[in-house]
Amino acid sequence: MLSRPPRVLPTAVILSLLFLSSCASSPVQERQMLVMDTILRVVAYGRDVEAALEAALTEARRLEALWDRHRQGSEIWRVNRSAGSEPVSVSPETVALLQAALQFAELTGGALDVTIGPVVDLWGFGSGEGRIPPGQLLREALHLVDYRKVRTDAERGTVGLAEEGMSLDLGAVAKGAAVDALWSVLKEAGVRSALVDLGGNIRLLGSPPGRPEWLIGVQDPRDPSRLLGYLRLAGGAVATSGDYQRYFMVGGRRYHHILDPRTGWPAAEVASVTVWAPTALQADALSTALFVLGPERGYEMACSLPGVEALFVLPGGQVKLTPGMQSVFRVNPP
Ligand code: AMP
Ligand code: MG
Repeated sequence: MLSRPPRVLPTAVILSLLFLSSCASSPVQERQMLVMDTILRVVAYGRDVEAALEAALTEARRLEALWDRHRQGSEIWRVNRSAGSEPVSVSPETVALLQAALQFAELTGGALDVTIGPVVDLWGFGSGEGRIPPGQLLREALHLVDYRKVRTDAERGTVGLAEEGMSLDLGAVAKGAAVDALWSVLKEAGVRSALVDLGGNIRLLGSPPGRPEWLIGVQDPRDPSRLLGYLRLAGGAVATSGDYQRYFMVGGRRYHHILDPRTGWPAAEVASVTVWAPTALQADALSTALFVLGPERGYEMACSLPGVEALFVLPGGQVKLTPGMQSVFRVNPP
């Protein structure tokens, strides 16, 4: 029997990274809400940060309304509904996100492909009803997966899909992009020390009061209530893609939500990938892509990208870190 994954998992399960910080002297404000199918947590230090926090939550709701493909009338819903016909007018941030996603697709040889929608639907990950799709249907759906058939026009402000039946799924990039947008809202409002965490996609603003670095826990993919270790980070963004975040079990095997666009099956070489990068969009896109590429090719790609570090946890529990990640990762808390 299929176990049905809940749409929103409890915090301890879905947050691939937990952050820990401590400071008694500076006032701290925190807001949480459910958005984009997960938990948003925004923490800001300092006085008079309430308005900035509220503005950040409003921005999160606005972006969800643009990018949720299941929400009737959202921009991505409209693009998908018009697949095979005329391009659709969308907001500049939607064109920008699509163009960035296409660049990551190009960079990763299609390991990240936001036209994966038809395959995600067959596996039932969008609906919460997990099932193994028949091979024939999977092969048919794979014909519709091709990022080169997405048309974006920044001047006209349009996005279109070349073939009927194609559909965009921004699950691998939208949370990272949203975190960057919220981070900018806080920064422009004058907040100097803050952390935005949307379902394990984290971006740091400034440093925690009285300390040079943020301390961020990395979950053990086989026991998400346990931490494998900690990252000490002075800035940037972190994201984790894991086979434990959304999955179902059949016959003792795990079928999870990160799909290899070449085969349509869950990528099987790693259990989780954590990426540290300058922006949350980069971290989000790359954690998914490196997961698909696996611990050899993914590791090489991480090493080749300036400012990008990665931590791979293999299905057997072994941990593989790029040199820069090694220098910020500790097994024990300080
Ligand atoms: P993340 O948690 O950021 O790794 O994103 C995983 C989500 O992205 C899945 O739940 C799907 O909605 C979508 N997805 C799965 N596989 C891919 C892929 N190879 N490329 C792009 N999006 C994907
Ligand atoms: Mg991602």
